[in-house]
Amino acid sequence: MSHVFPRHTKSTAPLAVKGDGIYILDSEGKRYLDGSGGAAVSCLGHSDADVIAAIKDQIDNIAFAHTGFFSSEPAERLADRLIAHAPGSLDRVYFTSGGSEAVESALKMARQYFVEKGEPSRSHFIARRQSYHGNTLGALAAGGNAWRREKFNPLLIDVSHIAPVHEYRWREDGETAEEYGLRVANELEAEIQRLGAENVIGFIAEPVVGATMGAVPPVKGYFKRIREICDQYGILLILDEVMCGMGRTGTLFACEQDGIAPDIVTIAKGLGAGYQPIGAAICTSEIYDAFVNGSGFFQHGHTYIGHPTATAAGDAVVKKLTEGGMVARAAQQGEVLDAALREAFGQHPHIGDIRGRGMFRGLEIVADRATKEPMDPAKAVNKKLKAAAFEAGLVCYPMGGTIDGQRGDHILLAPPFIISDDQIGELVDKLGTAIREVLG
Ligand code: PLP
Repeated sequence: MSHVFPRHTKSTAPLAVKGDGIYILDSEGKRYLDGSGGAAVSCLGHSDADVIAAIKDQIDNIAFAHTGFFSSEPAERLADRLIAHAPGSLDRVYFTSGGSEAVESALKMARQYFVEKGEPSRSHFIARRQSYHGNTLGALAAGGNAWRREKFNPLLIDVSHIAPVHEYRWREDGETAEEYGLRVANELEAEIQRLGAENVIGFIAEPVVGATMGAVPPVKGYFKRIREICDQYGILLILDEVMCGMGRTGTLFACEQDGIAPDIVTIAKGLGAGYQPIGAAICTSEIYDAFVNGSGFFQHGHTYIGHPTATAAGDAVVKKLTEGGMVARAAQQGEVLDAALREAFGQHPHIGDIRGRGMFRGLEIVADRATKEPMDPAKAVNKKLKAAAFEAGLVCYPMGGTIDGQRGDHILLAPPFIISDDQIGELVDKLGTAIREVLG
């Protein structure tokens, strides 16, 4: 009997024993193609010699030193590397051990920024429906996914949720993509006016929505208008790039493609590429300076922030992404993946939409392509697809609740950037096997 508290208490998972490029082997010798990088984590595959060497090297020197007393060489190097490539005036990196911690840190940083500035009435965040920002209580409150919040609602701070952007679902007939983008962005302005700008801290959103909607990019102009509104009302823009950042969409930061920069960005997952647990909230010097000129102390912290071994892994990963050409490879192989998905499933009667950017792709499953009617949730097609794909030796990320947190199914794909053209063929074949079995 296992004493590990698993994610699903009614199922047992095979034991992963070996990583080999884009493949994972279990203790029975079965090989799985990692078509989703776990949950958009393993951007460099499972056996990257450079990242492994960097970790070993760091442990040989010093595995851990507490940031209450010390910084470390890899933490300094990684922060420099991130800032050198970060958009806008992002300038200071607050390291964490993962994505939820990064979001939680960003929320508290944003609140304390206004307290330092003498604006303590600002206590309200605005986020979007159908979003996911993590499972700690602050991050969960920011998230707008009804199902994930349900059991914990009484414990969550009050956050307003406006509409997400999903052109396939909600652009109206006769409306251009840009008109649609402006219409939904303007919901932010209406909500700020309703609450009173003097009560609002900021707006948080994922540039390309991952887990909850399946790699849904914004329409052109949406985030430009969002940035404009945040500036006009003096509220902070927090972009959550925990899933879509670190090269996943074909640029190191996803928001680069929308031509804007946030006041705080959160990253994780691909930052450690699965070799170490690490995340970060990166803020502008304006925010940082408010702390310097104010209390001189961010009232937050976790034991493992800036962990030397984790930052050594992150540094090797970001070096490979930027200097090693892996971000460019994500953009290039993303096009190959997109073409292969369209070729295989573009006409499938139950695949309504194929979308995404770079190595971040989503397929929306529908009962009827013409009406876009979702599948009956009782059919649990996302669960069946996950199981059928796993049986066929493919790790992918099907989820339900795409539309309103209850209905709608999608499949998220986020393979390692090192995937070859032939391996993309293998991924699509295996996915085809699962789709045929479940959807016909
Ligand atoms: N934010 C986004 C956009 C995510 O997709 C996730 C995880 O899926 C998180 C935050 C939480 O990250 P973690 O699971 O590392 O705590």
